[in-house]
Amino acid sequence: MPATALVPSRYLAFGQRTYRHTSGRPVRAVYHTATATALLLDTATVDALRGAAALDTVDPGSLGQLERLGLLVADGTDEAGAVIAAGRAAADGRNRQFVIMPTAYCNMGCDYCGQQHERGTGIAPGRHRDALSERVRQAAAGGRYDTITVRWFGGEPLMGYATIRALSARFRADAHQHGVAYAAKLVTNGALLDARKLRVLHQECAVGHIEITLDGDAAVHDASRPLNSGQGSYHRIVAAVRAALADPQLARLRFTVRTNVGRHNADRADMFAAAMADAGLADRRVVFYPAPIHSWGNDVGGVALDRAEQARVELAWYAAYQRAGLASTPLPTVTRPVVCTAVSAHSEVVAPDGRVYTCTEQPLVPGYTEQHVGTVTELPAGQTRPAGAYDDWYDALDADETGCRGCRLLPVCGGACPKLWREGKPPCPPLKANLTQRLDLYAAAAGLTPLPPQESTDPGPR
Ligand code: SF4
Ligand code: SF4
Repeated sequence: MPATALVPSRYLAFGQRTYRHTSGRPVRAVYHTATATALLLDTATVDALRGAAALDTVDPGSLGQLERLGLLVADGTDEAGAVIAAGRAAADGRNRQFVIMPTAYCNMGCDYCGQQHERGTGIAPGRHRDALSERVRQAAAGGRYDTITVRWFGGEPLMGYATIRALSARFRADAHQHGVAYAAKLVTNGALLDARKLRVLHQECAVGHIEITLDGDAAVHDASRPLNSGQGSYHRIVAAVRAALADPQLARLRFTVRTNVGRHNADRADMFAAAMADAGLADRRVVFYPAPIHSWGNDVGGVALDRAEQARVELAWYAAYQRAGLASTPLPTVTRPVVCTAVSAHSEVVAPDGRVYTCTEQPLVPGYTEQHVGTVTELPAGQTRPAGAYDDWYDALDADETGCRGCRLLPVCGGACPKLWREGKPPCPPLKANLTQRLDLYAAAAGLTPLPPQESTDPGPR
C-alpha cells in the first residue's frame, strides 16, 4: 500500500525575518499552534513548510522529525476536528472547578470596570456557605474527579478574606479526606495584600498563583485604579509582591501581573517595565501580560483602543518587558482546549448571593445577573450545574458557527469568548493580527541577529 503523502500542518505560522543562527545558518522562527511550540528552523525547511519549495527538497531524516513534531501531517487529516475533539474531551475531564466570588464589594473604582459593586453582599456564614461547601465536598467524595480547583474572583475577593480562609479550610479538609488534589488561584487588585496575608493564602488556603493588576507606573496606576478611599495602591502592591519573592516560605508562589491597556496607558510600556525591574520584579515567578480593555456590556469607548491599535500596542508592551528583563510569554506556551468556565459542565461560577452561573462576566454585571442557572441552596449538591448558554460550544465550533474551525489560532485561542461571539462581537485577540511579529520577538529574545529584511510571503493568520 503506498504511504500517505505528508503535507504541512495547517497550524503553522512563520516569522517575517531571517536570522543568523549561532551555528552560522540562516533561520526563521516557526510557531506550531497545535502544540504551542516555537522553533527556529533553517530557511530551506521553512520554505518547504510554507509551500515555497517542494517537501522533497528536505532531507528524509528531517522530514521524519518534522512529522514526529506534528509539523507535517498525513494528507487529508482533519486537524481542526482533532483539536475540537481534544477540547471536548478536556472539558469533560477529571477536574472540577469552582470560581467563587466571596464578596460583591470592591475597594477600587476603576472607570472601565463593568461590574456593579455592593457593600455588605458576600457568601454568608450558615445555610449559603454550607451549601457551597457541600457541593465541593460531594465533588471530592464522588470519585469522578482527581482534582478540585478553586479560583477566588470578585468584586475584590480579598474584601472577603475571612470567607476565603473559612471556606478554604473546609475545601482542603474534604479534598484531603477523599484523596483528591486541591489547588487555588486568586485574582485580585492586590491592594489588600501584605506579607502576613500572602503566607496565610499560600500555606493555609493553598493559593499557588495570584493574578494582580497594575495599570502602569505609580502615577498611571493610581490615577486609573483609584481606591475608594482616594489613596493610591501601587507602592503597597509592589511591596507585597517583592516581599513574597524574598520569603523562602513562599518560594513556590507564582504571580501574574496583568496590565489593562487602553488610551490612558498605551504609550507607558517602557516606563512601567523599567519601574517593575527597579522594584525587583524581574523574576521568573512573576509573569507579565497586557490585556486590552474590552466591554463587559458597559461603554468603554473612551478608554479602549481599536483593534489595530491593540495589536500594535501589545507588541510594544511585550518588547518593553523583554528589554527590562521581565518574564512574559509573547507566544502562548500551552494550548487552550477549554476556553473558559462557560464551556465545561464541570466548572461553575458562584456569586456572592449564592447564584450559580456558567460565565464569569454574568454575576455583578448589569443586564446579565438574571442569567444564573440555579443557586447553591437549591441545586442538588452532588450534581454538576445545569447547562448554560455556552455548553454547546464544541458543537458550535464543529459546525463552524464562528469561523474558528478554519482559523490557525484555534488551538491556542480556543475561540476566545463564546459570550461575545453569540452577542455578535467577534472576540479575536490581538494575537490574530500580530502573531508573525511576535515570532520575531521570540527570535530576538533568543539573542539572534536579524539578516537584512526580506519580503515575507507568509499569508498571515487564516
Ligand atoms: S463566555 Fe466569555 S466572558 Fe464568559 S467566561 Fe467564557 S470567555 Fe469569559
Ligand atoms: S476567536 Fe478569532 S482568533 Fe480565536 S480561534 Fe476564533 S477566529 Fe481564530
